[in-house]
Amino acid sequence: FVVFDSVQKSYDGEILVVKDLNLSMPKGEFLTMLGPSGSGKTTCLMMLAGFETATHGDIRLDGKPINNIPPHKRGIGMVFQNYALFPHMTIGENLGFPLEVRGMGKSEREAKITRALGMVQMEDFVNRRPAQLSGGQQQRVALARALVFEPELVLMDEPLGALDKQLREHMQFEITRLAHDLGITTVYVTHDQTEALTMSDRVAVFNDGRIQQLAPPEDLYERPENSFVAQFIGENN
Ligand code: ATP
Repeated sequence: FVVFDSVQKSYDGEILVVKDLNLSMPKGEFLTMLGPSGSGKTTCLMMLAGFETATHGDIRLDGKPINNIPPHKRGIGMVFQNYALFPHMTIGENLGFPLEVRGMGKSEREAKITRALGMVQMEDFVNRRPAQLSGGQQQRVALARALVFEPELVLMDEPLGALDKQLREHMQFEITRLAHDLGITTVYVTHDQTEALTMSDRVAVFNDGRIQQLAPPEDLYERPENSFVAQFIGENN
């Protein structure tokens, strides 16, 4: 469903920050890109979302080269740590906005907003503004906003980075439950080993612009393919 085929990326025409990346994700998979800061994870999400283009190679979505699909037609929902809600809009308006942009009528919008807020147990907050919500509640609304137009693919970049430990663990569970229940294909970026190992169907361990190993969590733990993976997975565990 998502394919990276020999993808390379440089920002300045010189240094490759993504070096010959190959990756193939089936529909419905929850895949985490795990790796240290600067290893190229966010760059991969930016290329999928359409904010950056690959320098070499192809990215395909459902068999079609992504460059032929304009970003807003890719059916991609996004949740980023700093992807803030619009402060001057209510929660309902924040969710309605991506639907309005797609030309959806008012009654259909309202039904979808109610459903999406229900998924994250935030339906009672529809008329509040973001500043009246806690950090965790805002992050749940951001998740609902990414899901409201029923995307086939969701990209998340450190979405829980700003939350405290207890809320983080709760949201990890909620996100994986929603992704599996809705059959959404998810690419999740984190540098947190525990998060990657507990949430994912497969984990791609990044270092220096390359995938060092791509495997289910238990394989990474039990059969690391090189010393970088062994050391990185072992940290904090
Ligand atoms: P982090 O966890 O810190 O976000 P990352 O693994 O997501 O790290 P990227 O953000 O993809 O890594 O960055 C990979 C490299 O590309 C870094 O060396 C970074 O400095 C560089 N880079 C990222 N965005 C740009 C940009 N817009 N222009 C130039 N260089 C960039």
